[in-house]
Amino acid sequence: MHPVVKLQKDWYKEGHTKSYEFRKEQLKKLKKMLVTFEKPILQALKFDLSKSEYEAYTAEIAFLKTEIDDHLKHLKEWMAPVRVKAPLTHTGSKNYIIKEPYGTTLIIAPWNYPLQLAIAPVIGAIASGNTVIIKPSELTPTVSWVIKRMIEQYFPAHYISVIEGDKEVTQELLNQPMDYVFFTGSVPVGKKVMEQASKRLIPVTLELGGKSPAIVHRDANIDLAAKRIAWGKFINAGQTCIAPDYLYVHHEVKADFVKAIKKYIYEFYGEESLLNEDYVKIVNRPHFDRISSYLDEGNILVGGRVDSNQLRIEPTVMDQVTWTDHVMQDEIFGPVLPILTYDELDEVIKQISDRPKPLALYYFGENEKDQQQVTERISFGGGCINDTLYHILNPHLPFGGVGESGIGHYHGKASFETFSHEKSITKQTTKFDQKFRYPGSKLGLKAV
Ligand code: NAD
Repeated sequence: MHPVVKLQKDWYKEGHTKSYEFRKEQLKKLKKMLVTFEKPILQALKFDLSKSEYEAYTAEIAFLKTEIDDHLKHLKEWMAPVRVKAPLTHTGSKNYIIKEPYGTTLIIAPWNYPLQLAIAPVIGAIASGNTVIIKPSELTPTVSWVIKRMIEQYFPAHYISVIEGDKEVTQELLNQPMDYVFFTGSVPVGKKVMEQASKRLIPVTLELGGKSPAIVHRDANIDLAAKRIAWGKFINAGQTCIAPDYLYVHHEVKADFVKAIKKYIYEFYGEESLLNEDYVKIVNRPHFDRISSYLDEGNILVGGRVDSNQLRIEPTVMDQVTWTDHVMQDEIFGPVLPILTYDELDEVIKQISDRPKPLALYYFGENEKDQQQVTERISFGGGCINDTLYHILNPHLPFGGVGESGIGHYHGKASFETFSHEKSITKQTTKFDQKFRYPGSKLGLKAV
C-alpha cells in the first residue's frame, strides 16, 4: 500500500474524524487557510492561467468560502440520523439511517479552475468525516505547488494530503484501496478512472465535460442573452466545463444577436483583447494549437486573431460550421463560439437529444411553455433559463452531469451526501417478539 494511504486508513480507523466538533473545526481551518494564502493563490493563478484577480477571487476563492459557510451552517442537521417509517411487520422497532463516512477518499482535479475544483470536493469529504488525498492537475504546476504547501501547513498528512503528479501518479493512486474516488476531468479519462476503480469496486463520482448548448429563441431578450452568453462563454477564455460550447439561435434574431454579442465582447475585454492583461490565456501549447485550428473551419463573425507567444485567442464567434467539423465534434474548451441557426424549436430539441447528454444547457426565451419543453424533453446535467453558469453558484442546487457528462453530483448538501454512506439500521424491541416470521406460523403468510 502507498505509505500515505496506509497512514490515512490507519488513522481513520481510530475514529478521529467522526465527531461534529472535529469536522466543524477542520472546515473553519480550511477557510482560514484560504484567507491566509489568498495572495499566493492569486499569484499562482495569474502565473499558470493569467487569471485576473477579479476572476480568480470570484470563481475560485469566494466560491469556496461560500461553500464552506454553507457546510458550517447545516452540518449538524445533515449529520443527524434520519428516522424513517416502518411497516406493521416492524411494530416495536425504531428505524433510522446513519450518515457514515466512506474512509479514505481520493480527489482528482483538472486544471481549468485548479484551486476551486481541487478544494470544493474536499469540503464535502471532510464535512462527511473522511480523510482526503488530493491529486491536483499537473498542467497548472504553480497552483498545484501552492495547494500542497498550504495543505501541509494546515493539516497533517494522516488526515489531508496532496500528491502531485501526472497520469502515472494518478493511476498508481487508483490502484490503492481507496474508499471513494471523486474525479473531475474529461470524458475519456473519466472512463479510465471508472474502469480502474471498478477492479476494487470503489464507488466513484465523475464530474465530466462535453458539448453544452445554448439556445436563443426568437422571443428572447436578445441584448441580455448576448451579454450573459458572452460572460459565460468567455470567462476563463472559455475553459469552463459548463461554458456554452455552441449556440443555436433562431434565424430571425441571429443578426441582432451577433451585433449584441460583439458589443459585449468589446465592452468586457476591449477591441484588442490579445493585449488585455486580464484576459485569460490558453493553458498550454497543445490546447492552443487545437483551439486555433477550429478558426479555419467556419466564417469568423467576431474575433479570430491569436497570439501564439502569449497563448491567447480572441473571444471569437463564427458561423457556417457543420456537425462534421472538428469544432462541432470536440468539446471546444476555449473562446470560440460556433453558431447554428434553426426555424423550429422542435428540431433543436431533437438534434440535441440525439447527441450525448450535455453537462449544461442554457435556454433564452420568454414563453414558459417553450422553456418547459426544453427543460423536460432534453436530458442534461443542469442549466439555466435566460442565463448561463448561474446554477453552479447556488449551493442549494446539486451540480453534476448525466450520461456521458458524468455520474453523481455535489455542492452543498449534495456534497455531504456524496461522501457519506447511508447506513440503514433497524433497532428491534426486546419487549415482545412477533411470531409470524417464524417457520410454522400460519399468520406469517398473511402478514407478508
Ligand atoms: P483530464 O481528464 O485530462 O485530467 C483530469 C485529471 O486526471 C488530472 O489531474 C490528470 O492528471 C488526470 N489524468 C489525466 N490522464 C489520466 C489517465 N490516463 N489516467 C488517470 N488520470 C489521468 O482533464 P483536464 O484537461 O484537466 O480538464 C478538462 C476537462 O475536464 C474538460 O473535459 C472539462 O469539461 C472537464 N471538467 C469538468 C468539470 C465538471 O465539474 N464537470 C469541471 C472542470 C473540467
